[in-house]
Amino acid sequence: MTQPKLSIGALGGTVSMQAKSAGEGVTPALTGEAMLASLPELAELALINVETLCLLPSASLDFEQLLTVLRWAKAQVEQGATGVVLTQGTDTLEESAYFLDLLWDLEVPLVMTGAMRSASQIGADGPANLMAAIKVALDKNSRQRGVQVVMNDQVHAAAWVRKSDALALDAFTSPLFGPVGVMVEGRVRYLGGAPAERVTLPYPGKTHHRVALLEAVLGADTRLLEQIVSLGYEGLVIAGFGVGHVDAEWAERIGRIAEELPVVIASRTGSGTTTQHSYGFVGGEMDLQGRGAVMAGFLCPRKSRVLLWLLIGGELQGEVGVYFSGE
Ligand code: ASP
Repeated sequence: MTQPKLSIGALGGTVSMQAKSAGEGVTPALTGEAMLASLPELAELALINVETLCLLPSASLDFEQLLTVLRWAKAQVEQGATGVVLTQGTDTLEESAYFLDLLWDLEVPLVMTGAMRSASQIGADGPANLMAAIKVALDKNSRQRGVQVVMNDQVHAAAWVRKSDALALDAFTSPLFGPVGVMVEGRVRYLGGAPAERVTLPYPGKTHHRVALLEAVLGADTRLLEQIVSLGYEGLVIAGFGVGHVDAEWAERIGRIAEELPVVIASRTGSGTTTQHSYGFVGGEMDLQGRGAVMAGFLCPRKSRVLLWLLIGGELQGEVGVYFSGE
């Protein structure tokens, strides 16, 4: 029987990290090939092509690098891969997964994973996460599901997954939505019905634009807000209070900014949605929408920034209200 082809791209992160000597902090060290050395049984599952695309802490990844990764992953599929796995640091995984998901217009699964414990720690979770990700990527039921994140034997949709704990092994959750699948006896079991309909965006024609993300906080001043337009930002996301609120002074500044560029209001709470028709006070969501801002709905502030950046990059800034349904 011919084996399926699977490609693995390693980007760095804790999953690849080791200390050079005792007492030193861990840094990215293991290549993709070295990570696979702990999984000899892989040879029975698939023909593996593994490449180390970079060895970085995930805080140092950026959109340009992710576009390079996207092109690499698409080339793998063109060359016959039936699944692609990426390993990266967990710190920005929720953003990079959503970024790639918005651009992944193929049926082939793209699965991302990492580790909470470094390769030199007792009980390192990297090998188990990588094995689970590979099995998800090879499973025919994973097709048409876009980009998924596999951590701690759970499968999460890119749009909803969050790193919701700084250190815990079960740091990855999808608040309100829950995981879309779980690993059972070495196989993925999807929990819902058929894959949901997906929306993908065009490859961005421009990549040098900037989208700011500011969080509403108690007693905030307006200095940073006032600089957004003059600093050349082309979009603004506000991590608002509760269901998408700011104070009255911010509301007034946001109205002025919204005359110049798209402004999206998300919730800073970590779970749940912004509203559209509930609060009428100055700085409430009805007031902010009246001033031209768009509500992010269930999309968290960080993912909202990713979506807005890609919309602007694809010259779709006129359709921000379509892509952010506010629900
Ligand atoms: N602590 C991070 C990780 O889990 C480091 C990084 O994101 O690169 O991988």
